[in-house]
Amino acid sequence: MAKKGEMLYAWTNDAALAKKAECGGAVTELLKYALESKTVDAVLAVKRGVDLYDAVPVIVTKPAELDQCAGSLHCGTILMSKLVLEYAPKFAGKKIGMVVKGCDMMGMYELAKRNLVNLDNLVMIGVNCGGSVSPVTARKMIKEKYGVDPNTVTKEEIDKGQFIIEYEGGHKGISVDELEEAGFGRRSNCRRCKVKIPRQADLACGNWGVIGDKAGKATFVEVCSEKGAKLLDGAIKAKKLTTEAANPKGVEIRGKVEGAMHKLGDKWRKHDFEALAPVLWQTIATETGRCMKCYACIDHCPVCITRADKFEQPDMMVRHGVIPADPMFHLRRFAHISDSCINCGQCEECCPSEIPLALFSHAIRTEADKFFEPKLGKSAYTN
Ligand code: FAD
Ligand code: SF4
Ligand code: SF4
Repeated sequence: MAKKGEMLYAWTNDAALAKKAECGGAVTELLKYALESKTVDAVLAVKRGVDLYDAVPVIVTKPAELDQCAGSLHCGTILMSKLVLEYAPKFAGKKIGMVVKGCDMMGMYELAKRNLVNLDNLVMIGVNCGGSVSPVTARKMIKEKYGVDPNTVTKEEIDKGQFIIEYEGGHKGISVDELEEAGFGRRSNCRRCKVKIPRQADLACGNWGVIGDKAGKATFVEVCSEKGAKLLDGAIKAKKLTTEAANPKGVEIRGKVEGAMHKLGDKWRKHDFEALAPVLWQTIATETGRCMKCYACIDHCPVCITRADKFEQPDMMVRHGVIPADPMFHLRRFAHISDSCINCGQCEECCPSEIPLALFSHAIRTEADKFFEPKLGKSAYTN
C-alpha cells in the first residue's frame, strides 16, 4: 500500500502510450484508470490543437480518448482552474480528475475557498512545472534565436535547462538562461513562480530526479494524499502501471533542482519588484492608460469571480463609453484580488494592450505577505 510522502518511479505498461507520452505515461495511465474504476466521472485535460503552440482543453469520459492528451505542452499557457467554473453546472455532484500545474492547483484552492468547487469531488494529478512559454514569444524566439520557421517545429521540450526543438531537418537546444537574457524564454510570472512541485495535489509527478536507465522513460511520483495513494495502488493492482522505489540519488537531485528553482524565483522577484518599487503607483497609472476595457483580466483570473459587465452599470466605477478605464478601476481590482493573487499570469497573458497586470498584482501580494504575515513569510501554498 502506497503511503503519503512515498517517492517512486512509475511508467505505463502500454507501449503505444509510453511512446506518445512525455516521460513514461504514468499520468495518462492514472487518469485512464481513474475513469475505468469509476473513481472519477470525467477528466479535464488538454490536448494539442492546430499546432504545438495551441493547448486545447477537453473533457474526456472514455478512457481510450485520454491517449490524445499525452505529452507536455510547454507553450500551452492555459489555466485549468478557471475553466472548471465554465463547466461547473455540468460537473455538479460529479467526480472530476484533473492534471494541474502549480498555478492550476492554487487556482482550485482559491475557488474552493469561495465555495465554488468541492475539493472532495476532485482528483488532482499534479505536474512539476519549471515554467511555460507564451505561444507568441515561442514563435518569435524560434524564428529569431533558433533561425527556424516555427511552423516546421514538430516537438518542443525543456530538458536539463535547455528549450529544445525538433523541426523538419534537425533539432536544436538553447539554454533557458540565454533565452531569458535575450528577452525570450518563460513567461515573466513563471520566472517568479516558486510552486515548482505541486504537493497540495493528490500526486506530484515530474521528470526531475529520474536517473539511470529510467531517465526519460518514467515519471517521478510523490504521493501527496491518501486519495493519491489509493489511485496509484489501484492502477498497479490492475496491472496498468509499473513502479519501483525512486533512486535515493535521484531523490537528492530532485531536492537540489527544486531548491535551485526557488533561488531562481527569488532572483527574478528581486529583479522585477525592485525595478518597480519606487514608481509602482506611477507605473500602474501609466501602463493602465492603455486599457481598452475588454475585461479579459477579470474573465481569466481564478480569484476574481465577479462579472465584467457589472462594472459599467450606472453608479459603478467605470464610465460607460470612455476609454481608457480610470486607473482607480485597476487599483480597486488589485485591492480586491491581490491578497489572493496566485501569480498565474493569465491577466497579463490575455491583455490585448500588454499591460503587465500580473507583475503589479504579484508585487502587491508579495509586499502584503511580508507586511501582514511576517511570521509566515510565505504564501499558503509553499512560497
Ligand atoms: P503524460 O502521460 O504525457 O501526461 C501529460 C499530461 O499533462 C496530460 O494529461 C496533458 O493533458 C497534461 N498537460 C500537458 N500540457 C499541459 C499544460 N500546459 N497544462 C496543463 N496540463 C498539461 N516536470 C519536471 O520534473 N520539471 C519541470 O520543469 C517540468 N515542467 C513542466 C512544464 C509544463 C508546462 C508541463 C505541462 C509539465 C512539466 N513537467 C515538469 C512535467 C513533465 O513534463 C511530465 O508531465 C510528467 O513527468 C508526467 O509525464 P507522463 O509521461 O507521466 O505524462
Ligand atoms: Fe508553471 Fe508556475 Fe508558470 Fe504555472 S505560474 S505555468 S506553475 S511556472
Ligand atoms: Fe492570476 Fe492575474 Fe488573477 Fe493574479 S491577478 S491570480 S496573476 S489572473
